[in-house]
Amino acid sequence: MTPRRGTPWLLSEIGFAPGPPRYLAPEGAKARAVVLGSGGVTPNPHRHGPGAAVIVNDTTYLIDAGEGIWRGLAWAAASHPELIAEHLAPHRLTTLFLTHLHSDHTIGLPAVWLMPWAYGREVPLEVYGPIGTRSLMEHLEQAYQADLQERTFGPGADKRKIDAHKTVTHEIEDSGTVYEDGNVKIEAFHHKHGNFEQNFAYRFTSQDRVIAWSGDGRVEGQLDKAAQDADLFFCELSTEDMIANANWGGETVEEKAKTIWSYHIRPKELADFATEMNVKQLVTMHERNYTDPYEPDALMREFKRHYSGPVHSARDGDVF
Ligand SMILES: [Zn+2]
Ligand SMILES: [Zn+2]
Repeated sequence: MTPRRGTPWLLSEIGFAPGPPRYLAPEGAKARAVVLGSGGVTPNPHRHGPGAAVIVNDTTYLIDAGEGIWRGLAWAAASHPELIAEHLAPHRLTTLFLTHLHSDHTIGLPAVWLMPWAYGREVPLEVYGPIGTRSLMEHLEQAYQADLQERTFGPGADKRKIDAHKTVTHEIEDSGTVYEDGNVKIEAFHHKHGNFEQNFAYRFTSQDRVIAWSGDGRVEGQLDKAAQDADLFFCELSTEDMIANANWGGETVEEKAKTIWSYHIRPKELADFATEMNVKQLVTMHERNYTDPYEPDALMREFKRHYSGPVHSARDGDVF
């Protein structure tokens, strides 16, 4: 595999497929979480950008829309055709929760908004997110105006699907309950991520399980309210050992550390936090493993120096 040096944008990580998707949800679970994208900013043929689907009974809720989420849905569905494919059908994708407005978490938005009309969605996409989400959606509508015009008035226009080209935005102003239906209560809790005024972790409370998704960010803020006693806690993971190899954050190790830990959680912090929160199952994703040449297990080895609880490193298509 080509080493990273000399081709800095092309991480040697892409030579390693992380293994087949797993079905790890308890038998009979009414609430399940599907990893649609376990990756980050780095282009990686094995990992889409960050995103998940939480399926509760027969309803599907999306979290984040990273690069490739549309293909991530197909990959997850094809990996577990009997168990989740029907729940990920495009016409069921009607509700999306954004953790924050970084591009790696939102760049797949046009796909989940604009593609499902072809597969029978007849209602608008409802998007929940931080303040700024409305502006993002309005500008996306402007950006895709030619497409929307043609789909609304062109020869291929389908009157039943006009609403599928619309979005309804719900900006979340404060931490607390943001959504509730007969299946689930969804709460959003702000925690620190750089200078974002709002960066939410989501806590899904259903009849049988609590599923928490941290998105990006540090412990500071109300991450504890999202994660406390969760059956499943999804969280990003970064290396501290290999931070000198990071491709961002500054020139020196000190600069990189200062920048990176203003956005992200340190491995030991995550370990202590998950233990204190009594998290039943931790799942790491959006990982930053800066080994060079790439060593797939190095980051988890580092993390396990601090953490002895149950932990999985997420793969695209995993179901928990
Ligand atoms: Zn971010
Ligand atoms: Zn991110």
